[in-house]
Order: sequence, then C-alpha cells, then structure tokens
Amino acid sequence: MKAAAFYDKRDIRIVDKPVPEPKADEIRVKVEWCGICGSDMHEYEGGPHGVPTMGHSGEHPLTGKSGLPLVLGHEFSGTIDKLGPEVDTEKYKVGERVCVEPIITCGQCKLCHGGFENCCPKMGIIGVADDGGFAEYALARQHRVHFLPDNVSFEVGALIEPLCVAWHAVRQAHFTMGQTALVLGGGPVGLAVLKVLQTVGARSVYVSEVADARKEYAKKSGATEVWDPREVDVVQACKDRGPHGLGVDVTFDCAGVPASIKTAIKAVKPRGTILNVALWDRDVPVSLSDITTGEKVLIGTACMVEAFPAVIQAVSDGRLNTDGLITGKISLDDIVSQGFDAIAAARDKHVKILASPIKR
Ligand SMILES: [Zn+2]
Ligand SMILES: [Zn+2]
Repeated sequence: MKAAAFYDKRDIRIVDKPVPEPKADEIRVKVEWCGICGSDMHEYEGGPHGVPTMGHSGEHPLTGKSGLPLVLGHEFSGTIDKLGPEVDTEKYKVGERVCVEPIITCGQCKLCHGGFENCCPKMGIIGVADDGGFAEYALARQHRVHFLPDNVSFEVGALIEPLCVAWHAVRQAHFTMGQTALVLGGGPVGLAVLKVLQTVGARSVYVSEVADARKEYAKKSGATEVWDPREVDVVQACKDRGPHGLGVDVTFDCAGVPASIKTAIKAVKPRGTILNVALWDRDVPVSLSDITTGEKVLIGTACMVEAFPAVIQAVSDGRLNTDGLITGKISLDDIVSQGFDAIAAARDKHVKILASPIKR
C-alpha cells in the first residue's frame, strides 16, 4: 500500500508498505481522509520529538515501536476493511463508515480502570507511537473505532479527533452555559475550542490572535470579538467585559507561547479557570502569585476521554458546527509539497488540510 513515512526532520517520503494485518481485536480501516495536525507539523519541522517512543526509553511499551520511519496521522476517517479474529462481528461489519479514536492505552492500570485512560502512563497515539493514517490502510483496536452517521461526511469524520480534543478541554474547565471565555490562539485547536464553547452555550467568546487570516477565521466562526494582542490590552479588555470588571470565567491557552499563558492567567477572574490546551516543549516563567491570590485554577488537558460518541452526535444533529475548519483537501501523493511544506510556509493561512490516499 501507499503510505507517507516520516524518516526524519523535513523528510517524509511516499513509500510502498505491506498492507497491515489486523490481529486479535484490531480492525483495519481503509482510510478516506486524514488531517494534518499541529503535532505532525512539530515532528516534521523540528523532530523527531515524541515519535515513536513517546518519552519511553527504548521502545514504546505498548506498540513495541522504537525507530523511524513511522507513518504519521492520527485524525482519520474511512471504512472498515477487515476484522481481526477476536472482533465482535455483530457490532462491526466490513464497509461501515467510521472514524478512529487514536489513543493506545494499557487497559490495566489504575488510571485506565478509573476512567482516566488518557493519563495512562503507557499511553501512545496511533500515528505517533505506531503507524497511522497517512496511508491507504491503518489499524485500530475495536473499541477505538466509532461509527459515522450517514449525515457526517468522511471529511468531517477526519475532524472528529481534533474536535474531541477541544471538547475534552471544555469539559475539563467545567464550563457551563452562560459563561464567558477567552481563547488565546486562533489556529485549528483554538477554533475548535471556540466552536465547542458555542455548542455548550457560552455567552461570549473572545479570541486573541495576531495573524490576519486566523483573525478572519475566528470572526467567521462567530467569536464575540477578536483582538490583536499587539493592539489591544487583552487582560484589561477581559476585565472590562467580564462580570463586575473581574475578568472572564475561563481562559483557554491554545497558542502555547509565554505571552499567551501569562495573559491567560491574568485575564481570568478570581476563582476562574485557566486551561492549558497547548503542547509545550520548554518551561516558561508564569506568575504563581496571580494564581494564589485570586485562588485561580490552572488545569491541563490531554487528548480526550469518552468524547467521541458525544462529539459525533453533536456534529450529526447540528449543534457543533464545523464550517470553515477544512481549508484544504489534497492527495496523499502531494502531502509534502501541498501539506507539510505549504503549512510550514504559511501557517496562518490554513486551518485543517486533509489528505486522501484515494484517487478522486
Ligand atoms: Zn491532532
Ligand atoms: Zn493504563
């Protein structure tokens, strides 16, 4: 089969690989679309960082992967193509339309048993700790395969994973209807958080972003106001608009730069919640005094847990709107020039680019 294999920084090649055979309770998915994520870009532009061992020394403890090349891609949809020998054949049938929840977990530890499998110490991700969706076929265990209703296209099916990341972040914040939020960063993750906040009934969602194209996307996606932090004092603006001049209820740092997390901490009201959604590869100094004196709560969020069914339902019944999130659809053959290199050259022009191994 055809696959895009990550060999090293700035080195992704279209290669021919054997079609993977589903073992035990694995399902083989014939990939329709797979989205390029910021984390894939991070690997391509400066990696290898997390792939394929994800911080474990030697080999990944669940996938056994220890070296490159690796097929990236964890945001994919497709059809069920073949069932492993232990798959529930009553539930899963060849030809059904699905998307894949890419987390790989041990299923045995205290966190997995306690419903926090996204924090499993052995957690891996399909397309990071094992071959993923930038290929004609990919494997996933049966309980990670979710059906797509007829009114959810394969393209939108490839957006379910990043929407689940946003969904889980909003749930981590205990965000409730009628509250106000500031989203820092109007990239793919920030826009997904904005959309989920609208779904759950946010009163106002302000977006802070510097890039012009992303400001436009945020406006089109229904942000209450979009601010350029170089022109607007975002902390003061949040205080002015928040209840009693205290700041917004929740802030979401989706930008992951020192200035954004600092603003996130200062712009939230006392006893408000700061969500760190961004991935960091360095430590940053922040004011813990601001957190302590206002009894603010700083929370992390990792991938997702039990979000897929809820997000698929919300997209299917129209509560969660995905308009504007897909800004490019390309062939897997062109994934380097029209995908990775195009995003690297003009990151702010793109939200989500999807690649397909199928000739269209
Ligand atoms: Zn992703
Ligand atoms: Zn576990």
